[in-house]
Amino acid sequence: MPETKKIPPKRVSLVTLGCEKNTVDSEVLMGGLRHNGVRLVSDPSHSDIIILNTCGFIESAKRESINSILEAVEMKNSGSVKEVYVAGCLSERYRSELEAEITGVDGYFGTEDFERILRTVVPEANIATGPDLRYELLGERVLTTPKFYSYIKISEGCDNPCSFCAIPIMRGGHRSKSPEEIAFEAMMLAGQGVKEIVLIAQDLTYYGLDLTGERTLSDLLRRLVKVNGIEWIRLMYAYPAKFPLDILDVIAGEEKIVPYLDIPVQHASTEVLKSMRRGITRRATEELIETIRAKVPNIALRTTLITGYPTEGEREFEELEEFVSEMKFDRLGVFTYSVEDGTTAEPLGDTVSEEEKRRRHARLLDIQREISHEKNLAKIGTIVHAIIEREEEGVYYGRTEADAPEVDNEIAIHSQAALQAGMIVNVRVHEADEFDLVGDVIP
Ligand code: SF4
Repeated sequence: MPETKKIPPKRVSLVTLGCEKNTVDSEVLMGGLRHNGVRLVSDPSHSDIIILNTCGFIESAKRESINSILEAVEMKNSGSVKEVYVAGCLSERYRSELEAEITGVDGYFGTEDFERILRTVVPEANIATGPDLRYELLGERVLTTPKFYSYIKISEGCDNPCSFCAIPIMRGGHRSKSPEEIAFEAMMLAGQGVKEIVLIAQDLTYYGLDLTGERTLSDLLRRLVKVNGIEWIRLMYAYPAKFPLDILDVIAGEEKIVPYLDIPVQHASTEVLKSMRRGITRRATEELIETIRAKVPNIALRTTLITGYPTEGEREFEELEEFVSEMKFDRLGVFTYSVEDGTTAEPLGDTVSEEEKRRRHARLLDIQREISHEKNLAKIGTIVHAIIEREEEGVYYGRTEADAPEVDNEIAIHSQAALQAGMIVNVRVHEADEFDLVGDVIP
């Protein structure tokens, strides 16, 4: 019987751009590819097939995605890779333009084309279809984050009408995952050694409305705190309008839920918020922040703001400066406005110059730097909980409960005893700079 020549598995490199939601999608797809016999490689130049999971959020992200596609096609033209596929938000939004302008790509896919990508990349594989595919893949996720933390996307899409945002165009309307599916995913992640889960969505606080007609994030949280092995649960992307206050009791009452909330408010001028269709006023936003701080006293609040929105004049920007100074968020991210075609703000044009947008952006970060330093200095002598991320030259680095992965600050930790990544330790803070802390482990 002639020996059948063993075909080496295809080497596939999946390049992820954009936000954590894309990271989750890539991890699920990588699970499906590996499940179907593909060899995953991290370096695209050592692969047969490159799959790019792109971002189409704002101008700078789109440019980065297009450059990555051109680089991949260049590698194909030079013969170092055989096939190039493009998926994700940019492809979902501009497929026909990309097909016309960038030749050399073997296929364009949308944001939820797992099955078609699998069938294209591994045509010989016997692939399940429909929900089973997702459920199956969820269990198979290939984590690309450090093994001790992971993102769980609790819903897809968004029903909010924010005037500047193209995400609903790329991701569609809001669809919550079932609580069973999310609990199963958390269990599978805990089985892989994950200690911290970061719950993400376009609008986390909208969870459940499409399933039960009620906002049921509280119920979901009560279910997730029961998952063995998970020690920290972090909430990101809450939406200020119609905020479900009942989740505050759960955050305050459940030790596993870290006292942290990411709640992008985008602006503070009531006029600008109206034009942005955010469904909330400055006063109501301030009252919400006060209520959150009253209900969860030690909570760390992160927000995101946009500078240079078309209706943001000098007076409206002064209001934003004032708001940042008064509200004293713990963590702050600032974007400059980018006109997005197909959004309801597009007809307003781009009235603020790039230079002026950047000046306002820098001004807000200057205010925040002082606030952050003030808050950090107040932490000297206190004890914080921290998760260890790495060790460098005998010093450990980690994040406190007030720091989300990849976007927030760090703490440098001195310890006699050896520590491992993923360990959660108590640290007495003895030094602070504008953003980071330094402390000693206490047994
Ligand atoms: S909440 Fe608003 S900004 Fe966020 S994804 Fe939905 S539409 Fe976009």
